[in-house]
Amino acid sequence: MGKAIKQQPLTDDEIDTLTSNADGEYKIRRSRKVGLYELKELALDENVEKCPTCYWWVESGELIPDGSDETDRHCLNCRPPDNL
Ligand SMILES: [Zn+2]
Repeated sequence: MGKAIKQQPLTDDEIDTLTSNADGEYKIRRSRKVGLYELKELALDENVEKCPTCYWWVESGELIPDGSDETDRHCLNCRPPDNL
């Protein structure tokens, strides 16, 4: 099994690009030449994940509603208001 080249951790700038720009994922994947799976691993190391519902990259904590230990698979932007 071929082992991928070990990537350096995402920089603050890259995380900012990822979480603030609609095309951030595309930019980072192109500049690092990584697939989505690799990018997800790198992002998770920095506590950044892709929202399963709206596909925006957010901090992992956003996917967990206040008062809960588990994700409801929504970020702050797409969580229904009665679930906030
Ligand atoms: Zn979302």
